[in-house]
Amino acid sequence: MGHDDVQVTVYTPEDAPLGLFGTQATVAVGHDLEEAGVQAETGVYVAEDPQDPARLILHPGERTLDAERVRGAAARGRAWSARASANARGFVPTDLHGRVPDVDVVWAAGDAIAFPVKQGGLASQQADAAAESIAAHAGAELEPRPYRPVLRA
Ligand SMILES: Cc1cc2nc3c(=O)[nH]c(=O)nc-3n(C[C@H](O)[C@H](O)[C@H](O)COP(=O)(O)OP(=O)(O)OC[C@H]3O[C@@H](n4cnc5c(N)ncnc54)[C@H](O)[C@@H]3O)c2cc1C
Repeated sequence: MGHDDVQVTVYTPEDAPLGLFGTQATVAVGHDLEEAGVQAETGVYVAEDPQDPARLILHPGERTLDAERVRGAAARGRAWSARASANARGFVPTDLHGRVPDVDVVWAAGDAIAFPVKQGGLASQQADAAAESIAAHAGAELEPRPYRPVLRA
C-alpha cells in the first residue's frame, strides 16, 4: 500500500507459518511473506503480562513485544469465549449450519455443541455443514446445506 516504513511480523507457535497444512502450504506462504517483506518468527506465542495487561510478552524467553499495532486471533478483549456462549450443561448452542447464535462469525461442531448425541460421524457431518456455511460467508458460490444427522453403524 505504499507504506515502505512499516515492518510487519507474524508470531506463531508453529515450526513454520501454516505448518499444520504441510510442506506445500508452508513453502507457498513463506514465499508470499518474503515477497511482501513480512517477517515471521516461529516457535513463539504471545501472552499478556499478568502484572501489566498493556504489555505483551513473547514466550519462551519473556521478551517484550514492542509494536505499535497488534492484531491477533485472541486479541485482547475480542476473543470469543466458548464458555460465555455455553448452555447450563456447558455445551455450545448452534443453528443447523453450526453457527453460534448471538456471536459474530463463530461456528462450532462436534462433541462441544449442544446436539444430544456425541459421535464421531455426526461430529464430521456437523463440521461439513459448518465448513459450507463458513465458505458461503466468505463469498463462495454455494447454498450451504444444513446439518442432517445420519447415523452409520
Ligand atoms: C471411548 C470412546 C469411544 C468412541 N468410539 C466411537 C466410535 O466407535 N465411533 C464414533 O463415531 N465415535 C466414537 N466416539 C465419539 C467420538 O470420539 C467423538 O464424538 C469425536 O471424537 C468428537 O470429535 P470432536 O472433534 O468434536 O472432539 P475431540 O475428538 O474430542 O477433539 C477435541 C480436540 O480438542 C483438543 N483440545 C481440548 N481443549 C483444547 C484447548 N484448550 N486447546 C487446544 N486443543 C484443545 C483435544 O485435545 C482434542 O484433540 C468415542 C468416544 C469415546 C470417548
